[in-house]
Amino acid sequence: MANQDFPLIFELSQESRTGFSLPELDVPETNVEEQLGEAYIRKNEPDLPEVSELQIMRHYTALSKRNHGVDSGFYPLGSCTMKYNPKMNEDVARLAGFSHIHPYQAPETVQGALGLMYDLQTTLAEITGMDTVTLQPAAGAHGEWTGLMMIRAFHEGNGDFQRTKVIVPDSAHGTNPASATVAGFEAVTVKTNERGLVDLEDLKRVVDEKTAALMLTNPNTLGLFEEDIEEMAAIIHDAGGKLYYDGANLNAIMSYARPGDMGFDVVHLNLHKTFTGPHGGGGPGSGPVGVTAEFEPFLPKPILTKQDDMFVFDGDRPQSVGRVKPYYGNFGINVRAYTYIRTMGAEGLRKVSEYAVLNANYMMRRLQSEFDLPYDQHCKHEFVISGKRQKKLGVRTLDMAKRLLDFGYHPPTIYFPINVDEAFMVEPTETESKETLDEFVDAMIQISNEAKEDPELVQNAPHTTIVSRMDETTAARKPVLRYSKEG
Ligand SMILES: *Cc1c(COP(=O)(O)O)cnc(C)c1O
Repeated sequence: MANQDFPLIFELSQESRTGFSLPELDVPETNVEEQLGEAYIRKNEPDLPEVSELQIMRHYTALSKRNHGVDSGFYPLGSCTMKYNPKMNEDVARLAGFSHIHPYQAPETVQGALGLMYDLQTTLAEITGMDTVTLQPAAGAHGEWTGLMMIRAFHEGNGDFQRTKVIVPDSAHGTNPASATVAGFEAVTVKTNERGLVDLEDLKRVVDEKTAALMLTNPNTLGLFEEDIEEMAAIIHDAGGKLYYDGANLNAIMSYARPGDMGFDVVHLNLHKTFTGPHGGGGPGSGPVGVTAEFEPFLPKPILTKQDDMFVFDGDRPQSVGRVKPYYGNFGINVRAYTYIRTMGAEGLRKVSEYAVLNANYMMRRLQSEFDLPYDQHCKHEFVISGKRQKKLGVRTLDMAKRLLDFGYHPPTIYFPINVDEAFMVEPTETESKETLDEFVDAMIQISNEAKEDPELVQNAPHTTIVSRMDETTAARKPVLRYSKEG
């Protein structure tokens, strides 16, 4: 969609204008046709806009200003932990010793980088209460899949081939049932009770000799701590199953509680959420997986170990689930996470948890006057409110989320978890000031008042953005991402 003060690049195209200058050829000219064969040679000129360097610079700079990110404004996207990404992490990740090395280098030439990986593994094992950690998986969902493949290998190693089911609460992140399915299991749902926690009676009903694992997020996606976790662990373990911990958002419990102490066997973490890796738009992420000692043989290979005073890779792992990523994980994100952890220290991480929880509870209690609170109890790092009252006035949660764009905010996660009607899932994170939290709550209250007085204003939002309400399904299913002269 063209905009007056921002013509798109194809509208600027003028024949034979160029935005590049190439150096003189300093090698013999080759006959491309001969080398490639005729089939690979273009019949027509490429259909590209012809613009100057300045024009293209302005084009991309203008596009970049249309982005919303943590560095430009509040981004309370529940279950995503959009917290500040400290810039010191970037400085460290750019140190030549980290950024100029190559994964094919001999291990003895990159001992510093391997040492960082080793320390990070050890530190994450300590934070989660697990025995050992792999840094290979590239994201949260990838970690889930890797962990589940290890659980499968474990059961099969015991001749337990009948364990084909993975239990997942109905409030779980969508990646949980998806990973279970991709790992070859059948995902079975366990219900949430009226307090927003796993229904123990329902858990006892669904667990049986076919149970391979229970996948759990704790605090769960409603922001509530599963206080019966020890009993749940006993139910699953007694049935021969394993406990998988979705630790994408560890923000609420760091230095307070550890999945390993709760009885979990396998854990994944999202370093690009809890541990300040910048994320959004698909990556790069890092989803390390921690396991108890009995799962060590199944870890993705090669594993990084220490022999005498050298860090080495050990690929001689006959029971390993195999390599899950080329090279050694998303190293740059691991450097950022390591820098963050070392900057904060154990005490700092404890403070992170305290402020993440305080901020979420503060906002939840302020919003309670205007919005339905389906589970009225203290939350952890995030909380869920419902737009049920506003829906009666014809204003949906989607409308209110769109209206928030007019105030310069990225809206919270909406319609998730699916067991809450008209859900808003808000995660403020610990890095926001009280002023920001207050301004956001004021905007939400104002929007709720608009729903009563001028519902159309909200129903037709946003009003101040470059494009108004989009057809999101078509935008996602049939995105037009290529330049074309025809527009
Ligand atoms: C974000 C998230 C995931 C998935 O992580 P990705 O890195 O996006 O694959 C899984 N579970 C929970 C609870 C999450 O918040």
